[in-house]
Amino acid sequence: MIKKRLFLGLLACSLLLMAGILAYFFLTFFRRDPGVLRYIFLGVILAVLAVLAVILLGFSGILLSLLSDREFLFLEKPMNFTVSLLYPVVVRVGRLFKIAQDKIQRSFVEVNNQLVRVRCGRLKPDRLLVLLPHCLQTAECNKRITSDQSNCIRCGRCPVGGILNLCDRYGVPVRIATGGTLARDAVKKLQPQAIVAVACERDLTSGILDCIPLPVLGVTNERPNGPCYNTAVNLQSVEESILFFIKGGEKNVRLNLSS
Ligand code: SF4
Repeated sequence: MIKKRLFLGLLACSLLLMAGILAYFFLTFFRRDPGVLRYIFLGVILAVLAVLAVILLGFSGILLSLLSDREFLFLEKPMNFTVSLLYPVVVRVGRLFKIAQDKIQRSFVEVNNQLVRVRCGRLKPDRLLVLLPHCLQTAECNKRITSDQSNCIRCGRCPVGGILNLCDRYGVPVRIATGGTLARDAVKKLQPQAIVAVACERDLTSGILDCIPLPVLGVTNERPNGPCYNTAVNLQSVEESILFFIKGGEKNVRLNLSS
């Protein structure tokens, strides 16, 4: 929960900041300006208040879901709206407090993953998509796996072969993307109902925000050689994420892994 608190705290600060700006405009312009201008400001203030009310609803939904580990379907749209609208504000507020962006991204991915995990619908394996970054392939390998992943001979020198084996075992489509555009194309073409994405915190964050309202479970890659070069990933985390969707929830994942 500690990691999640950072994003939630900044989200609360962003909400307060927006409310403060609204109060400032109310006190500065609305109360002083007589005549028609007053009514224009009233209209603007009411519109912003309505947006703030939806954001507050979304924020409450996020907190309730995280604290109770339950899904609140009727709050899903306000929650998605809150995250999409406030994420850029959260990053700026974080900058004011000198908090590194990658820390915020890590916290956001944690919050997102828990929000996805409180859902427990079961998916057909072919409705799920596993998205992998090209940097998982070792630089010494000359197989062209982004255009056709069957070119991978699963030699075991990098994690790609192991993940392809997992996807074959569970019958889940997989794509290896060199960047956001190829990943977006794969999502558009395959129209999955959920995604398991492996990437760094930065790419996971932009991918998750791009895919809203699609549920995305993010698995952060390990970068022992620096960013974007011969990265690694925990295969068990990838398998657990796949099973979460195709077995329908955390409890069934544990049963499946222990059997
Ligand atoms: S598993 Fe082997 S063949 Fe496949 S991408 Fe990695 S190094 Fe290349």
